[in-house]
Amino acid sequence: MIAIVGGSIAAYTAYKTIKAQDKSVDAKIFSKESTEPYGKMLLPYMLTSNVKSNMFYEVPEDDLILNTEITKIDKNSNTIIDNKRNNYTYDRLIIATGADASRETFEGNANDRVFTVRYLKDIEKIRESIKKANLRHVLIYGGGLVSLEMANAISMAGFKITIVISSNRILSQILNKKASELFEKYLSDDFKLEIIKGEKISSIEKKENDIVVKLSSGKSVECDFVIVGKGVKPNIDFAKDVLNIKNGIVVNGKLEVAGGIYAIGDVAEVDDIVLNEKFLHAIWPCAVEQAQIAAKNALGMDIKVKPEFTRNVLPVFGMNIFTGGVSKFDEYETIIENYADGYTKIMIKDGYLDGFVFFGTVKNYGAYTFIARNRIKVKGAEKRLLHGWIDPRRLI
Ligand SMILES: Cc1cc2nc3c(=O)[nH]c(=O)nc-3n(C[C@H](O)[C@H](O)[C@H](O)COP(=O)(O)OP(=O)(O)OC[C@H]3O[C@@H](n4cnc5c(N)ncnc54)[C@H](O)[C@@H]3O)c2cc1C
Repeated sequence: MIAIVGGSIAAYTAYKTIKAQDKSVDAKIFSKESTEPYGKMLLPYMLTSNVKSNMFYEVPEDDLILNTEITKIDKNSNTIIDNKRNNYTYDRLIIATGADASRETFEGNANDRVFTVRYLKDIEKIRESIKKANLRHVLIYGGGLVSLEMANAISMAGFKITIVISSNRILSQILNKKASELFEKYLSDDFKLEIIKGEKISSIEKKENDIVVKLSSGKSVECDFVIVGKGVKPNIDFAKDVLNIKNGIVVNGKLEVAGGIYAIGDVAEVDDIVLNEKFLHAIWPCAVEQAQIAAKNALGMDIKVKPEFTRNVLPVFGMNIFTGGVSKFDEYETIIENYADGYTKIMIKDGYLDGFVFFGTVKNYGAYTFIARNRIKVKGAEKRLLHGWIDPRRLI
């Protein structure tokens, strides 16, 4: 049996790939959740539209073991053990346990009004809180991708949004300083978002139907509830004692971590082509590609994953932001083009495209990822790269 542990896009893609290669192979998904696998990217959109019906991936009942959290691996006996102490013997094991939202417990009596966004049940709780809201004001703690998607979704429901960030700029993990500043101005001018920077939450207390969030400076914000979006942490605890763990599960070029055991998606640390080291590429396209390769390798093929290139496309508040590689760094060899309502920045090192920021106008984005990931020299094509007039085949 090929055991796949997980309940989302990586687990489902691995299962589907195995069955597409050979229907007769015994493959099973073990998920700690109670539903069929589903796509996490759609969660913010569930607040304002009914996408629930098409967000699940169909897996035959016999191949889907739900409500089953794998808590241990015994490499010697090729066995995984679940939270009810059931043992399952595998021939191959694919770990696709992804990541969880980083959580913290705050001082005060209102931690039940604090939510993160990673599971369907999180969205159901937020939806209930929206129904009960009195002030129609939500505080979002963290200025990353998921925070902004949630801010966008909740503001569409007519809520006031205050974003509190501990760093000095929004999207600090993917944007450089200039793009952060432009985006902050756009959010406050056009969408009336309040952005409070350089602050942490020190306590959250209930006050009648509302809550009072105290910040480190002593300032306080009264609102209905808080959403925390402060990054993710890979689900690795069950594998800690037996597998090679750094930040996630470290895999080789074939996505193997030990004989016959593979790790894929948000839980896997894979080579990065620009950083030249193992890195967690917690994005959807990487999870899909890795799942396809690991599934084929588990069937006996011998396929290597190309080192990854991290990238993000963020369509929020009517703005498109596309970043890749070393996009958050300011200290790089760069070429910049400014427009009235945005800008493009290309980062080049030794003739290779190592990063980019497209803020406002996003063109031809598959080409940039392709050029960077395949280490195609861009010497002499810098100007064309800035404007999206680029055909990778002509550079090779
Ligand atoms: C709100 C949101 C918005 C996003 N937006 C984007 C975007 O715009 N673009 C993009 O590229 N990416 C986006 N992402 C990231 C993307 O969704 C992830 O990269 C992708 O879901 C990774 O898939 P995965 O299967 O590796 O892990 P996950 O989606 O984290 O799924 C892992 C699954 O494993 C199960 N599991 C965990 N531990 C165990 C265990 N011990 N036993 C059994 N089951 C277990 C969990 O229940 C979970 O369902 C977003 C993520 C979120 C949450």
